[in-house]
Amino acid sequence: MTPVAALDRVVHCLDRAHDKGFKAKAFVRAREVVRATDPTEIAERAAAGTLTKLDGIGDSSAKLITEALNGEVPHYLTKLEATTQVSITADGQRYRDALRGDCHLHSTWSDGGAEIADMAATARALGHEYMVITDHSARLTIAHGLDRQRLERQLADIAELNAGFDDFRILTGMEVDIFEDGALDLDDDLLERLDVVVASVHSKLRMERQQMTERMVLAVANPHVDILGHCTGRMIGKRPPSTFDADFVFAACRQFGTAVEINCRPERLDPPRELLDLAIAYGCWFSIDTDAHATGQLEWQPNGCDRAAEREVPIERVINTMGADELLAWTASTGG
Ligand SMILES: [Zn+2]
Ligand SMILES: [Zn+2]
Repeated sequence: MTPVAALDRVVHCLDRAHDKGFKAKAFVRAREVVRATDPTEIAERAAAGTLTKLDGIGDSSAKLITEALNGEVPHYLTKLEATTQVSITADGQRYRDALRGDCHLHSTWSDGGAEIADMAATARALGHEYMVITDHSARLTIAHGLDRQRLERQLADIAELNAGFDDFRILTGMEVDIFEDGALDLDDDLLERLDVVVASVHSKLRMERQQMTERMVLAVANPHVDILGHCTGRMIGKRPPSTFDADFVFAACRQFGTAVEINCRPERLDPPRELLDLAIAYGCWFSIDTDAHATGQLEWQPNGCDRAAEREVPIERVINTMGADELLAWTASTGG
């Protein structure tokens, strides 16, 4: 195991545990330093015990790097592998086993922490047949959202990456912002070109109930939209859910074939139980997605699977139980 591989795996495990503390940041920083430094210098410093003289390498990372170079599995990594596993119930596992892809995740193109290629390698290792790259749209400037030009460059990059796979596929997509008037933050011709479009509200979350309902219904009814992302926008313990008439919104989801996302992020777990029950009652489609911003977060599907099992979401209504071709046929049949 190279020092970079060991650090990659440490960062992955800390991400799946949603650890954003000082130590996690220190390992991310150490990884940057090791990536940017000649491996010969790293090896020499490890032998001489001078790794911590490098700015950004602390005692814990120095120990990890030294152990990796000595051909050992670093102790700290062994501990993390055992203590950071994402748990799942037996009922949830039935859903997880049925999932063949992940339809909402980010890369370094917007506010994610990993390159598309690294996200793809992890998704593939998790047993997925495909993943949909859904970086943010231009309006979300704090998340470095993609404008037309950057999205086109990303599409070219994805085509190149796909040429290198024979048993995995990266589908194109975007998490498109829903403007206050219900319009989408991307031109129609590009929406048309993308394989899967997730539409989400990220601004003016406290909008008055009727306006928010209209805003969401318009987005859901847009023929290019395939998935309604984290519908209430809540952040558990930090931000209350938006208020909207869920009957109208889920009736529209059913009517226009837009899947309701079951967002797996632990701080979101959106929709909340009572809304999920309502969406089931309306006969909606669902998509159990991680909204991962790092490779470790791709392991979060169990959170949504447990919730789906608990509320008894009909498994045949979960769109990412479909294979890639079937999913593409589904998006086309519900408006493209
Ligand atoms: Zn979002
Ligand atoms: Zn997202």
